[in-house]
Amino acid sequence: MNILVINAGSSSLKYQLMDPETGAVSAKGLCERIGIDGRLTHKVGDKKVVKELAMPTHSEAITAVLEILVDPVEGVIKSTDEIDAVGHRVLHGGMKFSDSCIIDDACIKAIEDCIPLGPLHNPANLMGIRACQKVMPGKPQVAVFDTAFHMTMPAKAYRYAIPKEYYENDDIRRYGFHGTSHKYVSRRAAALMGTKEFKLINCHLGNGSSLSAVKDGKCQDTSMGLSPLAGVCMGTRSGDIDACVVQFIMNRYGMSADECLNMLNKKSGVLALSGVSSDFRDIENAAEEGNADAALALDKFAYEVRKYIGAYAAALGGCDCLVFTAGVGENSAEMRERICEGLEYMGVKLDKAKNKIRGEEALISAEDSKVKVWVIPTNEELMIAQDTAELVNAAK
Ligand code: ADP
Repeated sequence: MNILVINAGSSSLKYQLMDPETGAVSAKGLCERIGIDGRLTHKVGDKKVVKELAMPTHSEAITAVLEILVDPVEGVIKSTDEIDAVGHRVLHGGMKFSDSCIIDDACIKAIEDCIPLGPLHNPANLMGIRACQKVMPGKPQVAVFDTAFHMTMPAKAYRYAIPKEYYENDDIRRYGFHGTSHKYVSRRAAALMGTKEFKLINCHLGNGSSLSAVKDGKCQDTSMGLSPLAGVCMGTRSGDIDACVVQFIMNRYGMSADECLNMLNKKSGVLALSGVSSDFRDIENAAEEGNADAALALDKFAYEVRKYIGAYAAALGGCDCLVFTAGVGENSAEMRERICEGLEYMGVKLDKAKNKIRGEEALISAEDSKVKVWVIPTNEELMIAQDTAELVNAAK
């Protein structure tokens, strides 16, 4: 089967053509500057082509993607008939979606209804969906939501302790994000653990970071909230913060709520703490050279992740498996070691030699560690392709 996986942003669109069974990617690429001018970067194996093309809307971008996929020289398929279905990444499924769904009018209406919860991403995701409907009429399409995996959380985890009317009237609650990654990693961890019944704490640590507490494959709690601002501090996001800080800064500096939130989303996190960069590689280098602020940023990030791990071990009543994934989790042996230092009390014992790996699946705990610690590279595109294939096959 060939599934075209689409991740549409407001002016960009990423794609991968992949086999959901093997995970093999035959081609992938990126359309940028949609609505401005337009550039397509297309990769097949190690070969890369860049084309400047007019892309006034997402429809022209999708058309350009299909044209290059069937191109006799750059392409990988003879005709678009060889694409069995399209899987779309959609940010916010609100309370309406606890799983992926085949796209029809009702699904589109429900994604529209979730726009207040995902005001930047959902409209862009819808543009990608509508463009595919226009350019490939009748092709089965599936929406895969970043929030869906977390919908199994109990009320005590997802409700905020604020007046009920905001929940009842406005759907204000914890949703969580990176759900497609957490789902992929949970399934992979179950395969590696040889059982579905275990307590997992998954640390998705990238530019954006979130943790999830998962029991028997079902999410029980997660660190992001109504928006991705909540949880541990991140590349440029503050993470959890006392709401009074917002009030204080707004009053003192005459900022609007939007301006203040922009500061918390884009100018905070390890970028603000280190004063160096939002990229952990730069911060690790600066800390090594003796930059005390960079050292504090790393120390605080590790401390916050460790606190969440402790909290989730308490929430789950134990932990059998701890997983690191995403850019930092997969690649930074140093950060994994920092985080695990001090978790010995709960049975986490890292094997420092095994931990010295980058970007590959590996068991990095010592033989006698009660908690199995794994690095599992995430693959959100494969999860989207697998969900798409499953739903499309079931509907046949
Ligand atoms: P996103 O949240 O944007 O999807 P990723 O999961 O791709 O981010 O993670 C990107 C981050 O991973 C970068 O900002 C960088 O800090 C970090 N990273 C990548 N490689 C390394 C490495 N070798 N050591 C430390 N950090 C790394």
